[in-house]
Amino acid sequence: MIGRVIQPALKLVITALERIRETSDHAPRASRNSLAQLQSTYSVAVSPGETPASPARPRLQQATATKAKSLTSVRERVCGCTKCAHLVSSRTQTVFGVGNPDAEIMFIGEAPGADEDQQGEPFVGRAGQLLTKIIKAMGFAREDVYIANILKCRPDMPAGSYGNRAPTPAEMQMCRPYLVEQINIIQPKVLVALGAVAVEGLLGSRGTMRELRGRWHSYNGTPLMITYHPAYLLRNQSPSEKRKVWEDMLQVLERLDKPISEKQRNYFL
Ligand code: SF4
Repeated sequence: MIGRVIQPALKLVITALERIRETSDHAPRASRNSLAQLQSTYSVAVSPGETPASPARPRLQQATATKAKSLTSVRERVCGCTKCAHLVSSRTQTVFGVGNPDAEIMFIGEAPGADEDQQGEPFVGRAGQLLTKIIKAMGFAREDVYIANILKCRPDMPAGSYGNRAPTPAEMQMCRPYLVEQINIIQPKVLVALGAVAVEGLLGSRGTMRELRGRWHSYNGTPLMITYHPAYLLRNQSPSEKRKVWEDMLQVLERLDKPISEKQRNYFL
């Protein structure tokens, strides 16, 4: 009975949120507290004996929990991985991946840098901040997508030298199975490879970014967009290069059937 009163109210809230999503520059956001409150309202709305209006949501939550559990199991193996002795001795920690286990988009980079090695999270340095900005401009939060690298350990550097180096093909081949497991568990609708090294790690073939970026490829049947690594944009600040990355991201939004506002269409990073 309570359900019959509250269900129309919830429908009104959902309609209002959908309207915001269609007319606003960014998708509507809700805090964890608000979501928890909405979820508890949903359980009250369904009185004992009543059939939930949509059983899809609990099933979805169950699937997400299963994915999270599977990812935790892979993470534990990565944490203890000693396949590359030279990287085990130089790493501070492994850098597994971060984000929504049920993400629609998965961003793939090449390897952790010094900041990531320190913090244990991919894309947290300057390039990572730019990636976060791109994700937000697409209308997502960082927690909505999944971010991982081909290599889970920072490529070592000669003693006394600073900076980061690209992973070697042998290192990527060694670590790639973990990424494959992550992709298989998450099953994103779209993969985005950031830079030619990530493409080589993922597909096993090397090409120039000029040939590769801006068009759809496929990884085991999942649409794959290839674009520049954000670190490239930090080195090359020209508006035309930034715009290319943004146009690639617009293609991703279109592929996901996300509404794109006029402001987003004209956006420059
Ligand atoms: S780079 Fe990958 S395969 Fe090599 S030690 Fe680290 S986790 Fe293991």
